[in-house]
Amino acid sequence: MTTAKVAVLGATGAIGQRFVHLLETHPWFRLTEVVASPRHAGEAYGDAVRWMDGALAPSAANLVLRDVNDDLEADLCFSALPGGEAGLIERALAARGYRVFTNARDLRLEPDVPLVIPEVNPDHLALLERQRHGPDGGFVVANGNCTAIILALTLKPLADAFGVRDCHVVSMQALSGAGYPGVPSLDVTDNVLPFIPGEEGKVESEVPKILGTVRDGGVSSSSLRVSATCTRVPVLEGHTLAVSVRLGDHAEPDRIHDAIRDFAGDPQRLRLPSAPALPLQVREEDDRPQPRRDRDAGGGMTVSVGRLRSDPILGWKFLAVGSNTVRGAAGASLLNAELAAAYGLLR
Ligand code: NAP
Repeated sequence: MTTAKVAVLGATGAIGQRFVHLLETHPWFRLTEVVASPRHAGEAYGDAVRWMDGALAPSAANLVLRDVNDDLEADLCFSALPGGEAGLIERALAARGYRVFTNARDLRLEPDVPLVIPEVNPDHLALLERQRHGPDGGFVVANGNCTAIILALTLKPLADAFGVRDCHVVSMQALSGAGYPGVPSLDVTDNVLPFIPGEEGKVESEVPKILGTVRDGGVSSSSLRVSATCTRVPVLEGHTLAVSVRLGDHAEPDRIHDAIRDFAGDPQRLRLPSAPALPLQVREEDDRPQPRRDRDAGGGMTVSVGRLRSDPILGWKFLAVGSNTVRGAAGASLLNAELAAAYGLLR
């Protein structure tokens, strides 16, 4: 794999900053362009960004912010653009030959756009054959909503081992999930916000697509029913999910734990640079997982599962914690691009 040049779109935001940070040491991808809204075009990245994560590398600080319509010196675009604006921009970039890996909601459910978690549904990249974005081979690959990614990762080994019919999830989502500058402190301090606009519908619709089957050139969604309640809590980073599931087959706790512990996929087999050794880990302690203690597991790419116990209504319940900005966003896109590279889709 030779080094690919990459642009980060929405580079000044919460997820854009995660991309810039993760790309500093990436062995396959080199950051060559940073893009933000037109109001910042022409400014040095280091001057425009309110950097949130330790020291900003001088190589990134000195890049000049570009507009999405500029000619970008890049093969790939990692998009952290706002939902509602992202889709049109991303389709246009694909038409210009760029390979776009997006975090935004706009195109996730489009029939020709793969919605991919590399350990869960790498075969969905076959949808790229349906995308016709001009002679230069541009395309768009999406990753899911942060809560949908964490949930789908925990459900996949259960679906494979026992089948999953129904899932009820309550999320306690971190502040970094609302972007920068995020939720007003006077709203969220000493409080729980019981509504995140659009979030529940995303979780309920995206997880069945991610767990769906490639058929006749499209994805047939899983028949799994998902019911979600999404809340915002005063945690900086790391979403916590309280999950209840109705499995298809009888299961014992040891077999459920084994299915979760043994779970791995192509990223682990292919040793992709952003792949954690374990996509999922089981925490046995009564008081784990917790966002402060478990969000950085596997460099933010491992989801922690714990407190597995029987549920009197659906059968089983557990808690899961994952990093929303790494596994739920920037790290997810990087892993998607690494998988595409390993599959020969970036040539
Ligand atoms: P954010 O902090 O609000 O950042 C938005 C970024 O988009 C900023 O860099 C902004 O630049 C740029 N932008 C706005 N309008 C633009 C335009 N017309 N052209 C080019 N750039 C434009 O948001 P975020 O939390 O990073 O989220 C980014 C995307 O990832 C969203 O679609 C979000 O839903 C998704 N996502 C977020 C998370 C999370 O945990 N935060 C997780 C999964 C997915 P300026 O600074 O110039 O305004």
